[in-house]
Amino acid sequence: MAKVIIAGGGIAGLAAGVYAQKSGFETVIYESNRVPGGNCTAWRRKGYFFEGGMHWLNGSSPGRMLHRVWREVGALSPASRIITADPFMVCLWEGERICLYRDPGRLEDQLRALSPEDGPAIKNLCGEIRRFMPLQLPVTDLPGLKVREKAPAAPGALLRMLPALSRVLPLGKQRTADYAARFRHPGIRMLLRGVVPPDYDAASLFYTLANFASGDGGYVEGGSPKLSAGMAGRFTELGGVIRYGERISRIVVKNGRAAGVIAGGEYIPADAVIVAADALAAVDTLFDEPVRKGWTGRMRRDTIPLVSTFVCMGVEADLSSWDENVLFPLKRPYEYGGVRFTGARFYNYAAYPGYAPEGCSVLTTILRGDTYEYWKDARDRGLYDQRKKELFETIRDRFGEQIPGLAGKAAVWDVATPLTYERFCGSYHGSWMTMTPPGSRRTPYPCTVPGIGGLYFAGHRMRPPGGMPVAVYSGRTAAQRLCRDFGAVFG
Ligand SMILES: Cc1cc2nc3c(=O)[nH]c(=O)nc-3n(C[C@H](O)[C@H](O)[C@H](O)COP(=O)(O)OP(=O)(O)OC[C@H]3O[C@@H](n4cnc5c(N)ncnc54)[C@H](O)[C@@H]3O)c2cc1C
Repeated sequence: MAKVIIAGGGIAGLAAGVYAQKSGFETVIYESNRVPGGNCTAWRRKGYFFEGGMHWLNGSSPGRMLHRVWREVGALSPASRIITADPFMVCLWEGERICLYRDPGRLEDQLRALSPEDGPAIKNLCGEIRRFMPLQLPVTDLPGLKVREKAPAAPGALLRMLPALSRVLPLGKQRTADYAARFRHPGIRMLLRGVVPPDYDAASLFYTLANFASGDGGYVEGGSPKLSAGMAGRFTELGGVIRYGERISRIVVKNGRAAGVIAGGEYIPADAVIVAADALAAVDTLFDEPVRKGWTGRMRRDTIPLVSTFVCMGVEADLSSWDENVLFPLKRPYEYGGVRFTGARFYNYAAYPGYAPEGCSVLTTILRGDTYEYWKDARDRGLYDQRKKELFETIRDRFGEQIPGLAGKAAVWDVATPLTYERFCGSYHGSWMTMTPPGSRRTPYPCTVPGIGGLYFAGHRMRPPGGMPVAVYSGRTAAQRLCRDFGAVFG
């Protein structure tokens, strides 16, 4: 039985661990935190539950190929309750409630009634959504791999994707903001710019909208910890071991092969190592010398990290009459860390039992923008906590433009900055996904490095834009590579 060490117990590391263990390897995951899941996480403060990871899950629907992968790794089970909120998002614009309905027909009717002069643009929008609906991450097996059970490639699924694939290239050349600019109604423009970052290519916009339209992109009741704990539970049931609170400081390479790791100052030998920590950080920090072979140069050069700050608050008020995912223009735009915000968005968890004490609610928001240096400067000057508090107050006051009286009711709050993600997950530049501006390449990076045997990479960086689907799938791919190299049967 070959021994495999996995660096990182996030979604990618746990997935790699489950598949490696099922395939007969003796697998140990080293996770520097005391809990599994990495960025797929949430935390409690004074009775409030702050969902700080999953907002929507690709593959939550049983109709998607990825669903079986989530089930195999223990993230989902037949008992999982998937919440597919509809409308998925609501833009409050000058007294109008503009809903992002999942069904393109319903969306079309609503937008036409709202803005008849946008008729042709609305027809195009909903036509593209329908064309993109069959598009999904194909789940396949590596060529030449011995498998216990074949990949869940649905018959004809690839054929059905062809109309969408022919649109990926042209839409991939324009920004979401430019696509949205064709609408005359400013509320529709704002709604579309809120789906994915406005600098992302428009193919990402349609991939996301079509995902919702297909009934996918749900939220798993119990949130990120439930998902991560399910995976960690499956891994340990299979005999895998997780060493929590133990950080790997070095991957040891001897005679052109990964030979083990250094953790807690001790050398732990292994036959293979899977690096499931952020690959962009790992290639520069976890080896005696930065890895410069193969794809690593391209990853360093091409990756534009998506950087965000997460703000959450517990509110002593019942906000269940408000929508779950609300976008609105600000009466008083603000600037923070060099980024200007003219609109705001909140996620409202009032409808989720157990997320707040009786009669109370949780609001969260994700502020996009590279504020890494701003926070670093604040920390260096001893202003970190003060800046966090200022940011919370700014957000609370802006939310208060919509929700009167919020200021006196936001009882508990927290802010996770890019430095938090760097410290908690070892994330490169505090980032947990990769930007996909027009023209960017989304081809997956190979999971092996030429000249170093027994070394595999997994994680969200392995295919832009990343996120949980890429993390889980890359973990599966790393385990398949491992099986192929060691002559083991996968699964
Ligand atoms: C606020 C927020 C919202 C999000 N919303 C969504 C969403 O709605 N949908 C979606 O798909 N994705 C979403 N994401 C992104 C998604 O959570 C991540 O892309 C994904 O979880 C990454 O998983 P990973 O396993 O590749 O990496 P990570 O989560 O970074 O896991 C890496 C793990 O390795 C550990 N580690 C690192 N270095 C070492 C070391 N040297 N030794 C031991 N352990 C180490 C870390 O502690 C971490 O646990 C969101 C993320 C955030 C923060």
